[in-house]
Amino acid sequence: MLTKVVKFGGSSLADAEQFKKVAQIIKSDPARRYVVVSAPGKRFKEDTKVTDMLYRCYEMIRNREDVDAYYAKICDRYNGIIRELGLQFDISGELEYVKNAMKHASGRDFAASRGEYLNSLILAKYLGFSFIDAENVIFFKDNGSLDEERTNAVLSEELKKYNHAVIPGFYGIMPNGTIKTFSRGGSDITGSIVARAAEADLYENWTDVSGFLMGDPRVLKDPPTIDAISYRELRELSYMGATVLHDEAIFPVRYAGIPINIRNTNAPEDAGTMIVSDAAAYETPHVITGIAGKKGFSVIHIEKDMMNAEVGFGRRVLEILEDHEISFEHLPSGIDTMSIVVSSTALDGRRDRIIHSISRLVHADHVEILDGLCLIAVVGRGMVKAKGTAARVFNAVSAAGVNIRMIDQGSSELNIILGVDEDAYEIAMSAIFNEFVK
Ligand code: ASP
Repeated sequence: MLTKVVKFGGSSLADAEQFKKVAQIIKSDPARRYVVVSAPGKRFKEDTKVTDMLYRCYEMIRNREDVDAYYAKICDRYNGIIRELGLQFDISGELEYVKNAMKHASGRDFAASRGEYLNSLILAKYLGFSFIDAENVIFFKDNGSLDEERTNAVLSEELKKYNHAVIPGFYGIMPNGTIKTFSRGGSDITGSIVARAAEADLYENWTDVSGFLMGDPRVLKDPPTIDAISYRELRELSYMGATVLHDEAIFPVRYAGIPINIRNTNAPEDAGTMIVSDAAAYETPHVITGIAGKKGFSVIHIEKDMMNAEVGFGRRVLEILEDHEISFEHLPSGIDTMSIVVSSTALDGRRDRIIHSISRLVHADHVEILDGLCLIAVVGRGMVKAKGTAARVFNAVSAAGVNIRMIDQGSSELNIILGVDEDAYEIAMSAIFNEFVK
């Protein structure tokens, strides 16, 4: 029998109506055996996610404000879901316990994690599935990173005991017994960890969009959905700002070779996007798979005559950045010039010191920092085969009157990265999109 691990995001479980859709999706396929759950998200645009309400409770308690009235709103959300589902389930003892625990300094992560915990109890009850508490199966190390081996060993044994189970996302336990969460959106990671431990055939990640779009719909007109994308292509796109799935959610399933399918709870008939290790088998309708971009970069530009002949020059410059704990994004270089692209915020408060150190330590002729750069990544496994892709990208951008300040093509030929002025961001993105997609 096939095993699918399904994760439902906050908007998929925001109210009773959404719970009903989720139950229908799960019950329509017996392979959907293990369900990972987020906390109730927004029901409408101005709504507040339960996770954010819990963080707020934590702050109120810390500031010695009276939290009872605000906490009652969280209780209302859970009680409302239970009532509207017609469930015979009294969650008041749990709600009371959580409030008291928060008042007794159980920590910020504990507070936040209760959103997933309580929602999972309700969904497990509604589906008639077993409940596995993440604190018994997801382990962190003392340094805060996931203890992958222990988690996988314990979790896979635990899953074997149940045919069907609900597991809260987002949190696990530290060696000292305190609750710790992943970073925001971290239920995606839990889903991936469970998929690996269950040796699942598929990890379905259900959200409120029908997969990844080829680009940002706020910038581009009607970008199509990506049918299939490789893990590596996705890493490139999400690093540059495409957000549907948590960045770190790829790793557990990637090593196990389990595909991820992004699906839409509100449109379950849509096939969504498949994320796979080798997307070659999937036809790509376009040479490029997607475009993503990010503003807020600066270039440290260094000039020195005969730089190319000086052994160790690059290393010495990068050591200076290392001393300031700055990581660089790109390093396009000429014969007597070197440009280092870094995030502008990383330079805050230490620009002068960096310029001074570089000038002094490598005896540069000229060092300056240029701001206002945005990076655009054009990503696609199809680019390796299609001749002239780079030329098409550059022609499209220059025909739109945009000056290209930097070019970087990775040796994998999976992406081309351009740096343009921030105010030309939208124009450049649209020009590339229209060249390849329209
Ligand atoms: N509820 C958490 C958040 O809002 C985790 C998640 O939904 O993945 O970030």
